[in-house]
Amino acid sequence: MEKIEIETDLHTHTVASSHGYSTIDEMARGAFKKGIKLIVLTDHGPKMLGGSDIYYFSNLSIVPDMLHGVRIIKGVEANILDGGKLDLSDEILNCLDFVAAGIHSLTGHNLKNKEDYTNAIIKVMENPYLDMITHPIQKKYPIDLEKVAKAAAENNVILELNSSSYNPKKGYIRGIKKDSIKLLELSNQYKFKLAINSDAHFYSEIGDFSNLDFIFNNNNFNRELIVNRSIDSITSYLKGRNKEISRLKKII
Ligand SMILES: [Zn+2]
Ligand SMILES: [Zn+2]
Repeated sequence: MEKIEIETDLHTHTVASSHGYSTIDEMARGAFKKGIKLIVLTDHGPKMLGGSDIYYFSNLSIVPDMLHGVRIIKGVEANILDGGKLDLSDEILNCLDFVAAGIHSLTGHNLKNKEDYTNAIIKVMENPYLDMITHPIQKKYPIDLEKVAKAAAENNVILELNSSSYNPKKGYIRGIKKDSIKLLELSNQYKFKLAINSDAHFYSEIGDFSNLDFIFNNNNFNRELIVNRSIDSITSYLKGRNKEISRLKKII
């Protein structure tokens, strides 16, 4: 099979998430080694155990936009809470150039069933700061894929195919392969954006999408559906978002 070139990685964690093990500097070097040209720092929001606080996110703009030859976009992986609320205020989200959000356990939400998870994700996609839903496919939090796909298309929000969800080194496989393939098919149909991300928690994981080979090998896979396939495609997506991307504008 031809190697699939994905130039950017929109989902990475550093030591600022307590279960991340590399610094920003190490992450940038790791990305460069893999040929990844842009990474988004998406450390966990404050409701996760060991997540970062509002001071961390509000000061993130001091990190260089370019480090070791890699573009650094400052973002967050916020926690989706009851009713589709996030664990950071709009004021803090406005300090960031990229806002991802996902449902995580032990973050204080009381979402209980498929309907709750689906509605919370759809609601959060209406937040104008939101760019991407992380790991929408989770065994633990099943959703109505078609409803979420339609809402992603309407709100121009990215849905993620998350490599870490299929990492055999982890004790628990979070994803469901057939649903990830379904998401790929739905993207063809509804034309929402997909991203291929590592969800790296260590520098060597950046740009390692090999756990998603079953996606790359699928007949419905078309690199053009992948919004982070190149620097140009992801930066033009971000420019087209109807939100302030002040720091991003400076570097693109
Ligand atoms: Zn996550
Ligand atoms: Zn993550």
